[in-house]
Amino acid sequence: MIEEMNEAKVNMRAMRIHRLGTINSANPPLEQDFIPVPQAGESDLLIRVHACGVCHTEIDEIEGRTPPSSLPMTPGHQVIGKVVGQGPACTMGMVNKRVGIAWIHSACGECQWCLGGRENLCPDFIACGRDAPGGYAEYMTVPEAFAHIIPDELGDLEATPLLCAGAVGYRALSLCRLENGQNLGLTGFGASGHLVLQMAQHLYPNSRFFVFARSETERAFAAEMGATWTGSTTERPETGLDAIIDTTPAWLPVLAAMEALAPGGRLVINAIRKESADQDILVTLNYDKHLWREKSLRTVANVTRSDVRECLRLATDIPLRPHITAYPLENANQALLEMKQGQIRGAKVLQII
Ligand SMILES: [Zn+2]
Ligand SMILES: [Zn+2]
Repeated sequence: MIEEMNEAKVNMRAMRIHRLGTINSANPPLEQDFIPVPQAGESDLLIRVHACGVCHTEIDEIEGRTPPSSLPMTPGHQVIGKVVGQGPACTMGMVNKRVGIAWIHSACGECQWCLGGRENLCPDFIACGRDAPGGYAEYMTVPEAFAHIIPDELGDLEATPLLCAGAVGYRALSLCRLENGQNLGLTGFGASGHLVLQMAQHLYPNSRFFVFARSETERAFAAEMGATWTGSTTERPETGLDAIIDTTPAWLPVLAAMEALAPGGRLVINAIRKESADQDILVTLNYDKHLWREKSLRTVANVTRSDVRECLRLATDIPLRPHITAYPLENANQALLEMKQGQIRGAKVLQII
């Protein structure tokens, strides 16, 4: 079943999480292991990984806010690679195709959420790189139905951030229910923010875009990308905003965003977990200032396959070109540490071949 695989290639390199703990320069979170190439199950594809994006969620996994379901675990959920093998029950003719694998490694297909088009909320949701081994490795497997064909226009490296930052950003943008001409805010401007801004500029050409970011570098980057207004997290533009997407790990930006919303405005929090460092600020929540006049708040959880596929389609239409910084697989610890320290400009990607 395995094509193009050298007989000698029975082992592979993987950068894996062995224990949970706080990431800092004295405590590299991943270890390089030499482990057997995985076998494709009945309905699985075997993927030769070309590249894998680095996401803030890996930090949440390692630091225990959304821990792996078993250890050691190979993280990574923005994977581009080539299908080099398949299980006997596969029927989609995917061998030799270039595919992407996103955070959704599988869902049950039978529950009310799966049947209702919201497989992102499935109670049996399996997250790639948290509940099943992901792409910080030379090979991985995925159920055939959860691999996404990557359009030829997109290179390996630039396609990786579309699978998480892009797809979840697309979902967050859809939940904003923005109309062309309405004001959109983004608080935080990392990998997802810079993709959402480009998607929003394409979908809502008459809208204005406001970027709130803590760091001067992020604000300069947002201005370069065509944001109408940039400011610090707590600065207030003169006009109210119809929707805001929050991609920060903190609570201050949530309160600041609720305050900046126009009547009827929607805040969508796009973060798998919030950190607890500034949680105390929530006691200053003020009904009149933050909630009154039908402001609403919702979160975005996971992604569906259609979010991923619509984001890929939009990316080729625009065309969307993510800014990326590449690292070799063995430098994954450095990439994670830099991300944790807030050295974010565009997206970080591990280049595996
Ligand atoms: Zn991610
Ligand atoms: Zn389900």
